Amino acid sequence: MIPITVREFAKIVHATAVTGDDNNRAVTVSGVQVDTRKIQPGDAFVAFEGAQTDGHLFVNNAFDCGASVAIVGKPVKTDGGCVIQVEAPLTAIQALAKHERSTFTGPVVGVTGSNGKTTTKQMVAAVLGGAKSCLYTQGNFNNELGLPLTILQRTPAHRAMVLEMGMRGFGQIASLCDIAQPNIGIITNIGQSHIELLGSQAGIAKAKAELLAALPASGCAILNQDDDFLVQVAEQTKAPVIWYGLQSDADVHARDITWTKEGMRFTAVVFGQTQQMFLPTYGHHNILNALAATAVGHATDIPLPQISERLAALEELSGRLNILQGKDQTTIIDDCYNASPLSVTASLNVLAELAPENQRIAILGDMFELGWFAEQGHRQVGEHAAQVGVSRLMAVGDDARWIAEAARTGGVKDVIHAPTVETAISQLAAWIEPQTTVLVKASRGMHLERIVAALTTSE
Ligand code: ATP
Ligand code: MG
Repeated sequence: MIPITVREFAKIVHATAVTGDDNNRAVTVSGVQVDTRKIQPGDAFVAFEGAQTDGHLFVNNAFDCGASVAIVGKPVKTDGGCVIQVEAPLTAIQALAKHERSTFTGPVVGVTGSNGKTTTKQMVAAVLGGAKSCLYTQGNFNNELGLPLTILQRTPAHRAMVLEMGMRGFGQIASLCDIAQPNIGIITNIGQSHIELLGSQAGIAKAKAELLAALPASGCAILNQDDDFLVQVAEQTKAPVIWYGLQSDADVHARDITWTKEGMRFTAVVFGQTQQMFLPTYGHHNILNALAATAVGHATDIPLPQISERLAALEELSGRLNILQGKDQTTIIDDCYNASPLSVTASLNVLAELAPENQRIAILGDMFELGWFAEQGHRQVGEHAAQVGVSRLMAVGDDARWIAEAARTGGVKDVIHAPTVETAISQLAAWIEPQTTVLVKASRGMHLERIVAALTTSE
C-alpha cells in the first residue's frame, strides 16, 4: 500500500480508540497483514478472531516483528506499541482497501463467473504485463477478506489490478465492487454452483450481474456471448460491452482452432483484426478465457502481437488441466482442483479431443453445493460422458452414483461406482488399462489428488 500516517490510518478505519505508544502517530503504515509470520517492518497487524485461533493473542508478537500499529476488535494488553481499536477488524481492512483503490488510477479488472475465474484472472494478469506491473489475486483470494487484502498489496510499480470476485449469495459481488470500484468487468459464464443459495440459474445470473451494475459508463464490460444468461443481463450495465465467444459474430472470437501436443493454436479475431495465438493448455473453455483476456488487452490498448506473446508464455495452474505421465504409459489429465456440471462437461470435451476412442477413461467424483440441482447436475455429467465416447467411467462418492447411472443408461460399457476414494484406489490397478488417457475431476473437498497420486506414482 502507499504509506500513510497512523493518524490518517486511524481516521480511515473509524477508530473508536487509539491507545499505547502515542508518539507513533506520526509513524507511517506501509502494509497490512493478518498473519504475524508475514509482517514486514512498518506493516499494520490486524487481529482476527478465527475459528482456530484469535489474532488478538498475537499483538505483542506482531510488534516484535516490526508492526507499526495493531488493529483490534476488542481491548488487548500490550507492552507498548500503538493499538487502534475498531468495531470490526474486517470492516477496517475493507475501508483501507477502498481508500487504497481510490488513490489508484490504472485499470481495475473485476473477474467473476461460475467457472474459470482464476484461470481468466491469470490470463488477464499475463496480458497486462504479469507480476512486475500488475497486481492480481493470489490463488483464490476472492472474498470479502481476500479481495481487500489483495488491493492492500499494491506498490508504486503496479499499473493495473486484476481481482477475482467470488460469491455465494446476493449482494456479495456488489460489496466487493464497492471496495474495488472496477472499471472493467468480466463475467465468464453462469453455471449452477451455489444454486442452493440463489434459487435458480437466473438467480445466479442476477447476482453476478451486480458487477455489471457497478461499472461506470467510461468503463467496459467483457461478456461471454455463448452464454444465454449473460446475453439477458447485459443491459444492466452503463458501460459499453465487448462480446467474446466462439461464435463468429462475437466482437472477439476464435477460428481455425487446432490441437498440438503442447497446447492449442487458433486465430483470434478482434473487431475484424486477426492474430495468431498459441495457448499452452487445452479445452475450448480455455480459449474462451483467453479471448476474455484478449478483450481486456484490446480495451487497454495493448497491441495484439504483445497479447499473443504474453498468452503463449502462460504458466500452468495447479490442479487445473495438468497433463501428467501415469503408470503403464497412461496419460493423466489432473483437473481435480474443483468441479461443477459446467466445468466437468468442459473437461470431458478435452478428454475426447486428447484421446482416441476406446482410450478415454473418466474418474469423476461428487460435485458439491448443487442443492436441489444435485441429482440433475450429476446425471447431466454422466450423460455427457456417454456422448463424448468415454469407454470406462469410475464414479467416486455418494452423489456420483447418479453420474454412474446416467453413464450406463447413455451406453458407457464399463461403469463402476466407488462410494469412497479408498475403495476407488483399491480398484484402480486392476481397472486402468495401459496407454489410456484418464481424466480425474471432482469437487475440491473430494481430494481426488489422492487418486492422481495413485495413478502416477509407483508403490
Ligand atoms: P472457484 O469457484 O473455485 O474459484 P474458478 O471460477 O476460479 O473456480 P478456475 O479455478 O479457473 O475457476 O477453474 C476451475 C475449473 O473450471 C477448471 O479446472 C476447469 O475445468 C473449469 N473451467 C475453467 N474455465 C472454464 C470456462 N470458461 N467454462 C467452463 N469451465 C471452465
Ligand atoms: Mg477461483
